[in-house]
Amino acid sequence: MKRMESPAHRPWEEHDHAGCISDALHSAEEICRARGVRLTELRRRVLELVWESHKPVGAYALLEQLQQAGKAAPPTVYRALEFLLEQGLIHRLASLNAYVGCTRPGESHSGLFLICESCRNLSELDGGAIDDAIARSSRTSGFEPTRQTVEVQGLCASCRKGAR
Ligand SMILES: [Zn+2]
Ligand SMILES: [Zn+2]
Ligand SMILES: [Zn+2]
Repeated sequence: MKRMESPAHRPWEEHDHAGCISDALHSAEEICRARGVRLTELRRRVLELVWESHKPVGAYALLEQLQQAGKAAPPTVYRALEFLLEQGLIHRLASLNAYVGCTRPGESHSGLFLICESCRNLSELDGGAIDDAIARSSRTSGFEPTRQTVEVQGLCASCRKGAR
């Protein structure tokens, strides 16, 4: 899997977002093919809608968009989201009850997210150091973590500039 500084790390800066979307869809196809699971048309469409921006999107908003196109009953949309989560193609943000495309699909990682309170753009970072710290502290307590997500709220570089 290619690994480079992607514009998704600074989503609030102007960038070729069509490139983000096509990269994400391309990776998803590769990953599903390698795992022998099916990226059905609906699953692909849901992933594409999640990737429409770097702002987390709720299930209800996705559902509305799909229904406008005359597609998909609620359960099938939820199942598609469940599938994308299982395959690590999207993340669920608990604090916002919303979904965002994963920028490092196919790599095992837990989520570290910077979420701008003003423009709502989200950046996914490599949380390796934090993962280690959490694993160490949990072990000290005899606790075994199964999943963790770190969500950091604040102001992105662009919004900070605007606020000045
Ligand atoms: Zn983008
Ligand atoms: Zn991710
Ligand atoms: Zn912002």
